Amino acid sequence: MSADPITGCQVHIQGIVQGVGFRPFIYLLSMRYHLTGWVRNTSSGVEIEVNGCPDDITAFLQAIRAETPPLARIDRFETAPCAPDGYSSFEIIESLPQADDFIPVSPDMSICPDCQRELFDPHDRRYRYPFINCTNCGPRFTIIQDIPYDRPKTTMAGFNMCAPCRHEYVDPLDRRFHAQPTACPDCGPQVSFVAEDTPRVDGDEAIRLARQFLRQGKILAVKGLGGYHLACDAFNPQAVDELRRRKRRSDRPFALMAFDLDAALRHCTADAGERALLESRQRPIVLLEQKPSSLIAAQVAPGQQSLGIMLAYTPLHLLLLEPEEGFPDLLVMTSGNLSEEPIAYQDADAKIRLQGIADGFLLHDRPIHMRVDDSVLREVDGGPYPIRRSRGYAPDPILLQREFPPILGAGAELKNTFCVTREKYAFLSHHIGDLENLETLQSYQEGIQHFERLFRVKPEVLACDLHPDYLSSVYAHQRAAGQNLPLYQVQHHHAHLAACLADNGWDSPEPVIGLSFDGTGYGPDGAIWGGEFLVGDYHGYQRPYHLAYAPLPGGDASVHRPARMALAHLWQAGIEWEAGLPPVQDLCAEERTVLRSQLEHHINTPLTSSLGRLFDAAAALIGVRQKATYEGQAAIELEIAADPHEQGLYELEIKDGLVDPGPLWQALIADWHNGLPVNRLSARFHNSIAQLSLQICRILRTDTNVRNVALSGGVWQNRYLLERSLRLLREDGFHVLLHRQVPTNDGGIALGQIMVAAYNHFIH
Ligand code: ZN
Ligand code: ZN
Ligand code: FE
Repeated sequence: MSADPITGCQVHIQGIVQGVGFRPFIYLLSMRYHLTGWVRNTSSGVEIEVNGCPDDITAFLQAIRAETPPLARIDRFETAPCAPDGYSSFEIIESLPQADDFIPVSPDMSICPDCQRELFDPHDRRYRYPFINCTNCGPRFTIIQDIPYDRPKTTMAGFNMCAPCRHEYVDPLDRRFHAQPTACPDCGPQVSFVAEDTPRVDGDEAIRLARQFLRQGKILAVKGLGGYHLACDAFNPQAVDELRRRKRRSDRPFALMAFDLDAALRHCTADAGERALLESRQRPIVLLEQKPSSLIAAQVAPGQQSLGIMLAYTPLHLLLLEPEEGFPDLLVMTSGNLSEEPIAYQDADAKIRLQGIADGFLLHDRPIHMRVDDSVLREVDGGPYPIRRSRGYAPDPILLQREFPPILGAGAELKNTFCVTREKYAFLSHHIGDLENLETLQSYQEGIQHFERLFRVKPEVLACDLHPDYLSSVYAHQRAAGQNLPLYQVQHHHAHLAACLADNGWDSPEPVIGLSFDGTGYGPDGAIWGGEFLVGDYHGYQRPYHLAYAPLPGGDASVHRPARMALAHLWQAGIEWEAGLPPVQDLCAEERTVLRSQLEHHINTPLTSSLGRLFDAAAALIGVRQKATYEGQAAIELEIAADPHEQGLYELEIKDGLVDPGPLWQALIADWHNGLPVNRLSARFHNSIAQLSLQICRILRTDTNVRNVALSGGVWQNRYLLERSLRLLREDGFHVLLHRQVPTNDGGIALGQIMVAAYNHFIH
């Protein structure tokens, strides 16, 4: 018998390959193919050297790509032959850190089926242990302080592994081999329950007491993965009301959590795609339609038909929601903060901030390094459509089509995220929030520092919004001045367009039509833009059409007063404020007089082409809502009111690059006088905007030959408008790009900013 010649091969793999069971996977494959050699983590990925027969090595290399572990992601795979080195076995050897290298970090992942089985197995040593995890699941991004990803560089550093845990940790064949957050009841974090007038209790008893509190209708603060939640019984109207009162939360809907899919489906309808999203490893909040039979308290989501619901994603959540007779199917699980503040995540701070809101605290002693909110998605056109991209997704990079030197995109003002790039990776941050108070701004700056350190990024170019007063712009301007870096100020709606292109991996020199529809964005002419029909690419844009300007009485404050917005639009169109119209009735005579003189003398009435405000005006005009407690509330309720069977619509006038809504208001008022019900009026209004989109796209196609259309901006969160526009555009032969990886709202702006800066600075 003659042995095949032994050869050698070196492999270098980049991607998400650390902390996801990659080395044991390689170890097992080496055994399957009788190879010797080693595997090790480097600060830029994983390195492998193997010796063996050529056929075995080929099969080994194929298997790496074909059988990649669930949480791993291979972005680059390089092999090179080498001389055999006479290894006698295959080993996992020590990491080799290099100062400037970087690797993507895995997001936090929901508990895996294996761990869940052990959690409820009375014979397992981690039976009912709220912090059970393994290489396939558990905390990652929220506990990592630095790379390479090793336990001393996580918030698990303070917990010394016991002998059995250590044994699993060093055994390449164990599911917990090098699972950095691994722990057990003997050596790991512990849960405790604290409430006034109750002695502190630990372990299972803590969970029992917390459940008792919930059953009694009390409000509980729960420390989770990326921060604190506030929880209460979703079926108890007093509890939900009280939570809303204490949190000082407007009418924004609360998120819900269910133990499992069955529990969620008792209250919501979900198709196969929506079920898959609910059960995905990321476990986002999914927006679903509530079943009429469900008895969820109305105060959970006032005025809404859809509910934001997620499945329990940590072992602690599973224990908290464990089904039992008389225990609620669903808990409200809203972020632990006062309205507008960032979510609490540090224990001392949470205690102070949540004291007046929560009756009791379910705590644990595993520190959270990075605050991360729950993600929110909905399903659109058979795919995920992100509303808020955070836990489970961040900091997974968006893969770019080209490599650029490092860039920082500062993002927008509302729903802020920032973005740093390195090579082909765009690391879009978790949701930071509205940059309007000191806490959020601080969390923004710390977040940028953390990302730059974690991914070893030193931005060479900066990008921010054109609006000089956004706190993110102020930050970017200061930094550009301090570090003498080039700064690109990117127009908001151009950034939306670019974000949508990057989201779709667009790398064609052809321009696209960009329908950038949102509430507000700073225009170079000083007006507030938002109903923009653009033609452009990453480099630049033209604005062939936009919604005609209307005065915005009171500026930003107008988002809370749809009635005033409606009257401003009527005034602009020269339509009389008839006594019977709902917004006229809403304002007293004196208010109307003041408003009229404000409009006539241009007192604090900046001009706007905002489509978001047009929706607000329509909502007020037909009597859906006159005052809003949060931005977009009137538009959301207008959408809910729309009758999907209605086919009627109104014309808007398109002339000289302007879209004039005057004829639409006339027709809407005439229909209102004729007694057409609100649901048909609303649908006709929606249909009009969808038809308008098609009409202008047709004109632009004739003029420019462009047939690709990108839909971006917060208005496209309106599902009725989105689905109808999609259908019309596709039927007419357009290719439509919509957001799939990053939000269509301002949460995606930072990605667009970096693309515009990259192309303008590096590609000519
Ligand atoms: Zn697991
Ligand atoms: Zn242990
Ligand atoms: Fe926007």
